[in-house]
Amino acid sequence: MLTTLRRIVLAFGQEPELGNALQNLVAQVKTAMATECCSVYLADYEREHFLLTASDGLAKASLGQVTIGFSEGLVGLVGQREEPINIADAQHHPRFKHAPEVKEEDFNAFLGTPIIHQRRVLGILSVQQKQARQFNENEEAFLVTLAAQLAMAIANAETTGILSRNKNQQNRQYVQGVPASPGLAIGNFYISYPKAQLSSVSLSKVGQVDKQTKIFQHAVLKTKRDLSQMSERMQGAIPEDALDIFEMYKHMLESASLGDEIVEKISLGWNAESALKLVIDQYVIQFESVEDPYIRERSTDIKDLGNRVLFHLQEEEASREQVPKNMILVATDVTASLLAEYQHKGLKAIVSLSGSTNSHAVILARALAIPAIMAVGNISLANFKYKQAIIDGYSGEIFLSPDAALLSEYQHLVREEDELQELIKEVIDLPAITKDGKSIELLLNAGLSAEFDSSMKNGAVGIGLYRTEIPFMERNCFPSEHEQVNLYHTVLRSFPRQPVVMRTLDVGGDKALPYFPINEDNPFLGWRGIRITLDHPEIFLVQVRAMLKANVGIGNLEIMLPMISGVTEVDDAVRLVNQAYFEVCNESDTPVSKPKIGIMLEVPSVLFQLEELAKKVDFFSVGSNDLTQYLLAVDRNNSRVAPLYDSYHPAVLRALNHIAEQAQLFLIELSLCGELASEPGGALLLLAMGYDKLSMNTHNIPKVKWVLRHIDYTQAQLILSHCLMLSTPKQVHNYLNEQLELLGLGGFVRAGK
Ligand code: PEP
Ligand code: MG
Repeated sequence: MLTTLRRIVLAFGQEPELGNALQNLVAQVKTAMATECCSVYLADYEREHFLLTASDGLAKASLGQVTIGFSEGLVGLVGQREEPINIADAQHHPRFKHAPEVKEEDFNAFLGTPIIHQRRVLGILSVQQKQARQFNENEEAFLVTLAAQLAMAIANAETTGILSRNKNQQNRQYVQGVPASPGLAIGNFYISYPKAQLSSVSLSKVGQVDKQTKIFQHAVLKTKRDLSQMSERMQGAIPEDALDIFEMYKHMLESASLGDEIVEKISLGWNAESALKLVIDQYVIQFESVEDPYIRERSTDIKDLGNRVLFHLQEEEASREQVPKNMILVATDVTASLLAEYQHKGLKAIVSLSGSTNSHAVILARALAIPAIMAVGNISLANFKYKQAIIDGYSGEIFLSPDAALLSEYQHLVREEDELQELIKEVIDLPAITKDGKSIELLLNAGLSAEFDSSMKNGAVGIGLYRTEIPFMERNCFPSEHEQVNLYHTVLRSFPRQPVVMRTLDVGGDKALPYFPINEDNPFLGWRGIRITLDHPEIFLVQVRAMLKANVGIGNLEIMLPMISGVTEVDDAVRLVNQAYFEVCNESDTPVSKPKIGIMLEVPSVLFQLEELAKKVDFFSVGSNDLTQYLLAVDRNNSRVAPLYDSYHPAVLRALNHIAEQAQLFLIELSLCGELASEPGGALLLLAMGYDKLSMNTHNIPKVKWVLRHIDYTQAQLILSHCLMLSTPKQVHNYLNEQLELLGLGGFVRAGK
């Protein structure tokens, strides 16, 4: 059954046109289940009905014509209940709705199951039979499993459909993602394709038969050359018969079957990549449906070969493609390194099909003031090709190929944004103080990009978080103590009379060192931050010694420990810092100052040990990015749960308020260095809670300062007490946005002034 299921799903993914794919699917399901009718109804939420889209068994003339209201008939009932319904005698069921056009009078047994994606019913998959009988458990399980697997593919097609569907009754192409970095951009898409993955090729026809054939043949030649070289290199190193694999690959490319089949597809208009995918997928399906495990295993070879040819096809394509002006980078997964690669090439905005709002790529985008939209969904990248677009980083909206009216509307908003940016520069050198005199320190989050220059200060009164791991990530091996001393010295010297908080190495989770691989099932719950450095005192000691040496003659260093989950880690780390201190004192002729030591509050366990922890360290700094992730149990990088990741969740706000109350009680200095500090609403609430310092990227310092200088502390406290009584993140967002509008600060949380 599993093989049949896999074969049906694979075949479904092979057909580029949804209507055809569904029609093939219903025929295959009908055969596989040995039943007499299988149908798919797709939901139309605007019209509130299901449309009979494909069927093998119902009248052909009714396809695309017959609709069933959301609250009508058995199909509607499956949608309403959001669960399978299995009825032996459907004709006599009170919800049965007779639709003469479909000609289902002979069918009695009915089994329908909803196709659900992210809590939304996208359609109904049903089977029917003349004999009045209950479908058995296996049949029900088969249909439910199939519907679950189809949901993603149908959701893709639906989103692609949205691209060309109307929004607000105007003929506009539109797609929605999760807003991740605010701001507006108008530009042209540049697609960064994942390298050589046939599974991510989007099928498309281009004609140009001769050109595409030549491109394909060229890629085949290059692949054969690679295979010969690989085989030569391996001579003597692996047994002779294992070398046959390379010959077999070459033969497959030469053989009349594979190569010719691809050329034949090209002659039907498919571009070379699509033709390759269609043929390879077909072979994979055939091999995978064979019982013999040896032959089934050959599907891996076919896929591998396909990806090798694809690599050369994409290489050709990439060499022909130019980076457009005002580039909007779009990729399946925009990572921090991808962003860094394009940041100097006129990058205006980023769009990522996956990812979430506080991944390190997004943190970097915010620091660079680049609007970002994440978790756009499983849309084919081809939809963005060569398109102009408007990116609204406040709302998460992407408008493709905008018409003149929309363009001019957004050009106006962009001008307003620019004016606002100019306006807030006025406060750069002024203190961060509210209208009624409450002051707070605004510090800089640094370290995200290797180069650091003091023009990035933007009115900050020190560094609240220097992420030391980034320079570690951009290398091939751990940096020496000497190299670290030089780097840290530059950073400490940039704020000679103000505090600079350096965080000890925080790798693990989504921050990997290329030369120190960690493979774990649950990296965010695994070997991360202080856990690694305590297990490797040689790495920790070198880093702390380097910090202490770099601080000689300056004296503004403060050391911060990441990912602390209890007092033992603090004791162990402080002991090592003391050891490094005495070593450096012994080696140095000049006095070495002892830095303050603080911890990050980002693992929820520390919320219940604040009193003990306050006695052991000099300051606390809340890492709201991780605190949100761990408190809500929502992976900060996972697009499936991106809408659940929210630092304005009442539980997070109450935790932050609890920390502030406790810090005041135990007289310990408190700051917050997560992304929340850089948002107008977040900064307002944290000020009201009593945080002493907020640390954020350079770009946001003037904005937050402007906001704080235009509000009253007493008013901020009233807003906070109301927020603390709300029960859902949505209520908090609505209320905060409303208040910011009333305060004349709405331009910071939406497009325009
Ligand atoms: C945080 O978790 O809030 C934080 C500042 O650290 P990072 O984003 O580097 O994990
Ligand atoms: Mg963190």
